[in-house]
Amino acid sequence: MRVRFAPSPTGALHIGGARAALYNWFVARGSGGTFVLRIEDTDLERSTPENVEQILDALRWLELDWDEGPISQVARADRHGEALQQLLDAGLAYRTTATADDVKAYKEQHGHDRGFRGQDEGEGAVRLRVPDDEELVVHDLVRGDTTFRTVHLDDPVIARADSRVLYNFAVAVDDLDAGITHVIRGEDHLSNTPKQLLVYRALGAEPPQFAHLPLLHGPDGKKLSKRHGAASVQELRDAGYLPAAIRNYLALLGWGDEDDETIIATDELVKRFDISRVSKNPARFDEQKLRWLNGRYLRELSLDELTAELERFTGREGLRAVVEISHEKIQTFADFWPLVGFFFDGPTTEDEKSRAQWLDDAGRAALADVRAALAALPPDGFTVEAVDETLRGVVAAREAKPKQVFQPIRVALAGTTVSPGIFETVVVLGRDETLRRIDAAIT
Ligand code: GLU
Repeated sequence: MRVRFAPSPTGALHIGGARAALYNWFVARGSGGTFVLRIEDTDLERSTPENVEQILDALRWLELDWDEGPISQVARADRHGEALQQLLDAGLAYRTTATADDVKAYKEQHGHDRGFRGQDEGEGAVRLRVPDDEELVVHDLVRGDTTFRTVHLDDPVIARADSRVLYNFAVAVDDLDAGITHVIRGEDHLSNTPKQLLVYRALGAEPPQFAHLPLLHGPDGKKLSKRHGAASVQELRDAGYLPAAIRNYLALLGWGDEDDETIIATDELVKRFDISRVSKNPARFDEQKLRWLNGRYLRELSLDELTAELERFTGREGLRAVVEISHEKIQTFADFWPLVGFFFDGPTTEDEKSRAQWLDDAGRAALADVRAALAALPPDGFTVEAVDETLRGVVAAREAKPKQVFQPIRVALAGTTVSPGIFETVVVLGRDETLRRIDAAIT
């Protein structure tokens, strides 16, 4: 099987595009076939080298390697011109100076737009001659067969007056020349498919098979957009997701293999992927589910691996001890620093509300007892067990609820009530720093 991913470099790689790339990659890797990358850069105003680089980067980061390409569509302009001439010479396409308005007016009067065919003037835009009345069947591997009657189709414009070919023509020529056997792409391209089939036919070639993937929606059922959170691969990367978790999540999105199965390694996905089982219904991208799945992938890393990743992500060093006490509470790399930054940068000053609530007179009185009890511990006895016993001792002696003591400690040390386990936090922060922060909170 020869498949391709053909992004337009007019922006970042979006999640829907990443899913199309992934499904093509699954098909190539699962069949021992070839994955071709083509950059559809014919929109000269909006295509930039930076966008191309960003898309390639996102694909590399997702570990979706390609076997051929990237092929630039613009670089193939000569070949497109040749194919266009072939159709003009064979009388399968014609030039007309009629404008879109002329065609529209003609159609209103005659019920069809075929009246410009006889007047090939050697100039003007190029239109493809659509067969008079035939049934064209698109065999779609996801959606089944759709039949189009050519009598309802207008002669599509395939090149401008300057002979620069248009999108539907270029795509068909490029897929044909690359020997693509399966075109797997978003459903938004479904309406282009009959036009592309007619281009294949005019060129005397067999079309590939098609599979159109259902659109992605957000959890609210609306078309996926920025409103739903991260919309591009780059944003997911910045938010600290793992490529393997994203592959797993996107694979399951719109393709339910077995119920309830959520963690499936990439090589297993490659083995099981079957394009004909992709659902026809729109798939819902739910970032909360991706977060959950990502958390499961994070737990599969060893502490050494996780520490290395988090040090790279945050650009900090010496994080092993805080990783050890916080790793169960994070689902993405980006969750980490807000949870542990206070160890390094001091208590956060942003949570006024928690300070007002827990550093009141009662809280400060509890902290004074905590300070005295911790200060009485021998410096070499500052272990999680000893701190645990000591702090529970303060709770008992004050006849308080645990949170009446523990929350003030959290706020004194972290500035907020969200932190790793309190005993672990005290130990990792160390005796001197703990006492110093408590002093600062009570004075
Ligand atoms: N360049 C098109 C896009 O980015 C894809 C075309 C295709 O896959 O046929 O939407």
